[in-house]
Amino acid sequence: MFSGPGTEPGSTPDAAAAPRRPALSPSRAGDFKQCPLLYRFRAVDRLPETPTKAQVRGTVVHAVLEQLYALPADERQPDRAHAMIAPTWERLSAEEPGLTAIFDGESVEEQLAAWLESAGGLVDGYFELEDPRRLQPEACELLVETELDSGVLLRGYIDRLDVAPTGEIRVVDYKTGVAPREIGEAKALFQMKFYALALWRLRGVVPRQLRLMYLADRQSLAYTPDEAELSRFERTLDAIWTAILRAAPTGDFRPNKTKLCDWCSHQAICPAFGGTPPAYPGWPEPDSGDETILERAD
Ligand code: SF4
Repeated sequence: MFSGPGTEPGSTPDAAAAPRRPALSPSRAGDFKQCPLLYRFRAVDRLPETPTKAQVRGTVVHAVLEQLYALPADERQPDRAHAMIAPTWERLSAEEPGLTAIFDGESVEEQLAAWLESAGGLVDGYFELEDPRRLQPEACELLVETELDSGVLLRGYIDRLDVAPTGEIRVVDYKTGVAPREIGEAKALFQMKFYALALWRLRGVVPRQLRLMYLADRQSLAYTPDEAELSRFERTLDAIWTAILRAAPTGDFRPNKTKLCDWCSHQAICPAFGGTPPAYPGWPEPDSGDETILERAD
């Protein structure tokens, strides 16, 4: 059981620490793997994307679960979590006023109430999957950053890290999205292998378990990685970064049309859908690889 004493994560760099080298995040690496042009739009052009209600709700629920684990174990009850939802939304929307754009037209009050209630449904889904009073995570929203032998810098945020008294590590990721699970699953496993590799490199231990918790479906998926697989995955990330740097000077980031295009905000300017991309702005200061709070809660 993963219920070791709470400790400070010794190998974790300070998020506020000074200048940050460009890094590959699971979101950006996944973007390039899915569609190089999508990577360009997000990492190079940095085109704005309108957040969806589901994305913002995921961000709120992730923040609530993080705050829940900051409480003494016996106070981690459903009613405490529910009471955090509205204040968490108020705080996040005050910090990023653009998030309020998810509500428009008339009856905003009703929309907000229904949306907050749906966030409560995800919180209920969480409590159905596990009892947080029995767990003492080592960290929530843990920033991990490590450099591969090839020089590629990996950077990402782990929803929750559990470490058993035996030293076994479990990586936990909460899934709150609305995309069908079969579509999101390959992407989720890619993200989890990314974290597993980063932790292996940082701590010298391959995580014992990668656990995906689908709060809407109220189902969990557990996965056990091994060294050979993570070594292969490391070569995949090296190849992705090499391909990004190869395309960077000329902007030769090509579209890759798949069923995931249904969730892309950029179809109107995508050649695969008859659109024309903006002129390539040139390789900028390499993208820092930082994920937005919406992406972290994906
Ligand atoms: S619509 Fe599809 S092919 Fe076009 S940029 Fe988006 S993900 Fe890529």
